[in-house]
Amino acid sequence: GLERKISIVGSGLIGRSWAMIFASAGYSVSLYDIDQKQIETALADIEQQLKTLEKGGLLRGTTSSDQQFALIKGTINLQESVKNATIVQECVPENLELKRKVWKQVDELVSPNTILSSSTSTFMPSKLSDHLKNKANMIISHPVNPPYYVPVIEIVPAPWTDPEIARRTRDIWTEVGQTPVSLTKEVPGFIINRLQYALLNESWHLVTEGVLDVKDLDKIMSEGLGMRYAFLGTLETTHLNAQGFEDYCRAYSKTIHEVSSDFKPTPKFEGPHVKEIARQLEAEVPLDRLQERRNWRDACLTKLSQLKKEM
Ligand code: NAD
Repeated sequence: GLERKISIVGSGLIGRSWAMIFASAGYSVSLYDIDQKQIETALADIEQQLKTLEKGGLLRGTTSSDQQFALIKGTINLQESVKNATIVQECVPENLELKRKVWKQVDELVSPNTILSSSTSTFMPSKLSDHLKNKANMIISHPVNPPYYVPVIEIVPAPWTDPEIARRTRDIWTEVGQTPVSLTKEVPGFIINRLQYALLNESWHLVTEGVLDVKDLDKIMSEGLGMRYAFLGTLETTHLNAQGFEDYCRAYSKTIHEVSSDFKPTPKFEGPHVKEIARQLEAEVPLDRLQERRNWRDACLTKLSQLKKEM
């Protein structure tokens, strides 16, 4: 039978976050990678991260960092890692051929009721699983980085995914403190990237047409819409901005349609404007200071996630 055990395949940025999240909920975690050195680096990093979180009072779960770290074991033996696992959570690099190969290997070794879950940001679940015996167990669990502080997980089934697998996956993410969102079918980009790209496309047009510069464009989100969106979705926002959604549509449907008819065709993100936007971004955050800025971002997200828990 299955154990209270998770197999993480790929011990990079996302694999490490998954290991910490599952260990904080008391699962034993088998962290697999192809290279012993990579495993050692990952374990040392996880131990350090757990200690830092504990010191800052930010450790998830009710146990100590030592207890959580003790639940995580590294291995370069795939068979041992996936044996009797409740979920195999794959997080190898975003390369279709590699992912298909890794899933084929897992498929040959895994129990028939283990959930086969991929962290992929871009590949449809059908593309990852059409060659598998256990393809009815395949699902995507797509996070936003860093998942330790940003809880949403998109759960995306292939056409042949057993609905029971989708339900079990959703329950497990809820149990470990993430916020799963269930799609009924696969769509390109899932939801996160579709919404993100809608904003990104319009940002491109506004800046390349010279309506405003990069710095001011980004303030619209960071000092405006984004503040609201940290608490309310796009639809509830409209519901509150009028006497409910029906009233909102009565009042604004014509305007929304007229403004939206001014949207330009999908941009290609090529040509001289790429350099110009990059120049403006690098004037604020030079390329050698990206990591510093990421650390600042993660510190902000930590505070925001604490605030959201208090609200
Ligand atoms: P990463 O490069 O940090 O880690 C990948 C790990 O996979 C490395 O440790 C590597 O050694 C290991 N690996 C390579 N080949 C392997 C194999 N055959 N078997 C087992 N392990 C192998 O990548 P990441 O950023 O953690 O991304 C992993 C997945 O998560 C990708 O599908 C990515 O699209 C997805 N994802 C990433 C982010 C993000 O912001 N980084 C967000 C959402 C989803």
